[in-house]
Amino acid sequence: MTSRSRRSERAVFLDRDGTLINEVGYLDRVERVMLYPWAIDSVRALNRASLPVVLISNQSGVARGFFSESVVDEVHQHIATLLDTGGASIDAYYYCPHHPDGKVHPYARPCDCRKPGRGMVDRAARELGIEPARSFVVGDRWLDVELARAIGGRGILVRTGYGATEECRPRQGLEADAIVDNLISAVSWILTQRFR
Ligand SMILES: [Mg+2]
Ligand SMILES: [Zn+2]
Repeated sequence: MTSRSRRSERAVFLDRDGTLINEVGYLDRVERVMLYPWAIDSVRALNRASLPVVLISNQSGVARGFFSESVVDEVHQHIATLLDTGGASIDAYYYCPHHPDGKVHPYARPCDCRKPGRGMVDRAARELGIEPARSFVVGDRWLDVELARAIGGRGILVRTGYGATEECRPRQGLEADAIVDNLISAVSWILTQRFR
């Protein structure tokens, strides 16, 4: 789902649940998808700034047997349709269906793509020509910030989803580059930082 040519550039890695759409626990039906009111404007602002937007999402519900990969694909197609109504688009959608404690073969295993693992970022680097160390990660969990640290990029914690709770439970030795109220504030921060 990439529309841009291959080149080495910075990107914005976006978490899905609690960052782009409402956090509803395991999202097992497309009817439960609800974009945050600022989601379309946020993505469109990144599009206009020519910053590739890459969705990266842990979806261990697949390994746990709560829903199938086809549901995840359907959810992502639905998100793409909703964004398109406002002229916004995400350049690529990646997710990790694995979990070591899962029940469903072949997903029940350790992997390198479950965040804070960097597998999805490395895949985007290969497939889209993105330079991880110059990129941003936006998410509502410390694991999103941890991923930013792992790739040498910058990590922004949003207070939506689990973010406000996460902010109250700091992780030793882990600091976000910014903690902001929501995705649109994260985008504003990124757009002021990107020339530095
Ligand atoms: Mg999240
Ligand atoms: Zn995985």
